[in-house]
Amino acid sequence: MKIEEVKSTVRAQRIAAHSHVKGLGLNESGAALPVGGGLVGQSNAREAAGIVVDLIKSKKMAGRALLLAGPPGTGKTAIALAIAQELGNKVPFCPMVGSEVYSSEIKKTEVLMENFRRSIGLRIRETKEVYEGEVTELTPIETENPMGGYGKTISNVVIGLKTAKGTKQLKLDPSIYESLQKEKVEVGDVIYIEANSGAVKRQGRSDTFATEFDLETEEYVPLPKGDVHKKKEVIQDVTLHDLDVANARPQGGQDVLSMMGQLMKPKKTEITDKLRMEINKVVNRYIDQGIAELVPGVLFIDEVHMLDLETFTYLHKSLESPIAPIVVFATNRGRCVIRGTDDITSPHGMPLDLLDRVLIIRTLPYSISEMEQIIRIRAQTEGLQMEDSAITTLSEIAGQATLRYAVQLLTPAYQMCKVNGKTIIGPDDLKDVHGLFLDAKRSATFLTERNNKYMV
Ligand code: ATP
Repeated sequence: MKIEEVKSTVRAQRIAAHSHVKGLGLNESGAALPVGGGLVGQSNAREAAGIVVDLIKSKKMAGRALLLAGPPGTGKTAIALAIAQELGNKVPFCPMVGSEVYSSEIKKTEVLMENFRRSIGLRIRETKEVYEGEVTELTPIETENPMGGYGKTISNVVIGLKTAKGTKQLKLDPSIYESLQKEKVEVGDVIYIEANSGAVKRQGRSDTFATEFDLETEEYVPLPKGDVHKKKEVIQDVTLHDLDVANARPQGGQDVLSMMGQLMKPKKTEITDKLRMEINKVVNRYIDQGIAELVPGVLFIDEVHMLDLETFTYLHKSLESPIAPIVVFATNRGRCVIRGTDDITSPHGMPLDLLDRVLIIRTLPYSISEMEQIIRIRAQTEGLQMEDSAITTLSEIAGQATLRYAVQLLTPAYQMCKVNGKTIIGPDDLKDVHGLFLDAKRSATFLTERNNKYMV
């Protein structure tokens, strides 16, 4: 069963900017390599994040959260993503911005709940019995048409499957022959046939069971276990939110596998608390039976000062739930008023009792040479070639503006370079695009200088 996840493209794009990040890049003793896992510099923050990963793995982070505090563009998102990657393969990473909770259609707490469930993965193990091997023979067996008409029909197909232990002959249902033909399976191909469904690798289904052709008695007998017969574990990863969306309309069975079957029919209907509770119940049963396993991921909430007292209260409570993801807040603010209060000021705009449960990691501005290395890695990841002098120019631009602005100039600079009939980005291409666009700082200066020309 193939799972087609219906994912928000906004979120995918947010992560795409960090596609070069593969982990925290620490050595065995937890020290940050100068460049590692796609990350450059920011050693203290990375080492601290490494300790948090250890705490999470040893289940000592329950009820607590992490706060990354530092100026814009100092790699807070990049480090949060690296934490998710250090927690394991396919651990969900769900980035959001504090202001996302304000919508005229959806309650604030509902937005948070949805993101909580996007950050919790479910790994489902299904064991399939399969016959697997290299095809040594593929012979359709024809019989006279049983209806007495003209011509012949294919009544069976005999295939030889070779494994390390020898070759077995299987007699299969004719519908499998069609599948084999459709898949263009030939002698020499390695295929597998699902024992229960009769499905041949990559093809449709049939209800056939394989049998073995005994060369001595010349009879077909059920295939013995072992040899070409083995169990194959199929693992599927989904998030609780995927299951919510897929099952928002009541239909299908109440087990994880049919709930997952719904994933192929994308639709949008309201997800109610009742539905979530139902899904939790089924999921819990499967966890108890050892078929499924929860994979708590990372919920990254940027611009945390945009949240208000109501959402902070809700978050605080949710952190204590037994199936909470790791919540990583990020902020570039110092002391400010907590939204939703008249005048309560607190560090980062977060209520003190929540702040008390949070481990704070500081991120610091980059040096020019660190930005140079980050730009080099990004250009490589995006498959763009740059002259060395262009990298120097761009890191200088990053120094005056921000790293994010500089990295965003890469694609337009490449367009400019193509227009100029080249394939390698030079410093002039960058100066050209830098002249065409404004970064936030220059835009602000521009506005201040021409203040009297704008309406106020
Ligand atoms: P923040 O969340 O603090 O604003 P960010 O992680 O979103 O920062 P950007 O300002 O968007 O970082 O950074 C631009 C690019 O530089 C992104 O592609 C990001 O992944 C990358 N980047 C930032 N810090 C590092 C780092 N220490 N090592 C490697 N790449 C980095």
